[in-house]
Amino acid sequence: MRDVFTLEDLRRWPETAAHETPPVRLAVIGDPVAHSASPPMHNAALEACGIDARYTRLHIRAEELAEAFTLLPKHGFIGVNCTIPHKTEALRLVHRVDEHAQRVGVVNTILVEGQQLAGFNTDGPGLVRAVRAEFGIDLRDLRVLVLGAGGGAGRAIAMQCALEGCERLVLVNRTIDKARALAAELAPMFRTARVSGPGERLEVAAWDDASLRLQLAQSDLVINCTAVGMKRGDPSPLTSAVLQPHLLVYDTIYTAVRTKLMLAADDAGARSANGLSMLLHQGALAFEIWFDRPAPLEKMRAALHAHTGGNAG
Ligand code: NAP
Repeated sequence: MRDVFTLEDLRRWPETAAHETPPVRLAVIGDPVAHSASPPMHNAALEACGIDARYTRLHIRAEELAEAFTLLPKHGFIGVNCTIPHKTEALRLVHRVDEHAQRVGVVNTILVEGQQLAGFNTDGPGLVRAVRAEFGIDLRDLRVLVLGAGGGAGRAIAMQCALEGCERLVLVNRTIDKARALAAELAPMFRTARVSGPGERLEVAAWDDASLRLQLAQSDLVINCTAVGMKRGDPSPLTSAVLQPHLLVYDTIYTAVRTKLMLAADDAGARSANGLSMLLHQGALAFEIWFDRPAPLEKMRAALHAHTGGNAG
């Protein structure tokens, strides 16, 4: 049973995948994609529900995405998830975008409807459930700093914070202009005076120690949405010197049980969680879009746990 397929395989699908049982009908599309824990999670769900289908990985480069999308309906796919770096381009390529994904500007879940593709976003709602599960508190009651507010996940999460009406939102991104552009879009959603304290409800902050220390002192939750920490040799995106003991630290990365950022949070005396719980909940919401039935959450959680050795809250 193969783990990863390419565009070349997709072009010759009847030959490359005809012998697979159960038949391959779902996938995560990305570059890189080998790290994705979505296949074991979704395959456990499919098996638990008695659905004769398998979920795989499609390693598709940016310039191959448009062609890959045209091949999905032809080869009987039910749907796909999109991950790095395809989430923004996917929005442009699908035929129909649901209202939430349109607002967020990013698609992570696609449903095949006849010969057409419909785009959705479950990252933001998945994060809301994950924060509640990990820390026992609702996003709407928190002052949040989003690190990496220029990428697909950062954008979806920042938009979700705005939709939830969180107390305060600080956007930080290596390329600061992207954070500024996002802040301009979100500004109308932060007009009401809900918060007490010295800072504005919505701010863009520079990625330097002095600025981060100042902003983190006025934050409850920091969410890492950058790709920094995904690779084995990566440093932590934030050092323990800027983190503070009162913070809740959520790292959307789940390639390690204790990510570099979580270790830095430990050193600073802060509570932390990795992105497995977000993966679980965004995946459950995607399953519900594909099959219009509740996802078997406990089976999915157990499969993720077995695959990664981690705890999906
Ligand atoms: P993306 O669209 O490619 O965005 C990447 C982000 O990382 C951008 O903000 C980028 O900043 C930043 N970045 C990349 N390299 C950096 C560096 N060396 N220093 C500082 N910033 C850097 O990717 P994505 O789809 O949003 O995914 C981002 C992360 O979220 C990944 O780690 C992914 O695993 C995670 N994620 C997790 C889940 C989950 O369910 N747990 C779901 C979605 C995503 P610039 O704008 O300056 O390039």
